[in-house]
Amino acid sequence: MDKITHPAICVFCGASFGTDPIYRETARALGAGIAAMGARMVFGGGSPGLMGEVAKAAREGGTSVEGILPSFLRDVEPPLAEGETTQIVDDLFVRKQMMIDRSDAFIVLPGGLGTYDEFFEVLTAAQLRVHAKHIVLVNVMGYFDALDALVRDTVKKGFASEAVLTLYSLADDAPAALAQVRKALAP
Ligand code: AMP
Repeated sequence: MDKITHPAICVFCGASFGTDPIYRETARALGAGIAAMGARMVFGGGSPGLMGEVAKAAREGGTSVEGILPSFLRDVEPPLAEGETTQIVDDLFVRKQMMIDRSDAFIVLPGGLGTYDEFFEVLTAAQLRVHAKHIVLVNVMGYFDALDALVRDTVKKGFASEAVLTLYSLADDAPAALAQVRKALAP
């Protein structure tokens, strides 16, 4: 499948819902938008929190959803009951590698420490040119302002190259994030 019209978009997000309903609404809008643009979705494979919301919305929109779930998380983060393909892998490291290998771009929704870990995993891999896939943070109500400020401060103080700032972008909402992905994938 060609990656311009049918890209595989990997979504990282919380296994919780967060305190504001807007996080859930944004997750649903993102899943629906991924399906509407003809993209496929790759994600961590669990059903709790925003992970389940985005996957359900993508599936309801009629696109294929691939979950990649480490075996030890099967009980803690069970996969959706239906409608997604779940690959069971040995550990978190294999999961992250497969998510990178199988995707054309990454979209990060609000989440917790696991989401930050996944963001930095793909950002540091891009920094080392292991891949050249764009990363978009969906900055719902400024959720990622502090993270962006941390990375910018790191650049300012000479511990990361300015080029790092070109590897990711911030979008205010799900449609803006998808527009940025489309732009990044355009020839
Ligand atoms: P969280 O953002 O903490 O709610 O977690 C979101 C997802 O990240 C969940 O599917 C977690 O299993 C996953 N996760 C948590 N810790 C890690 C880690 N060290 N490496 C990779 N994924 C993780």
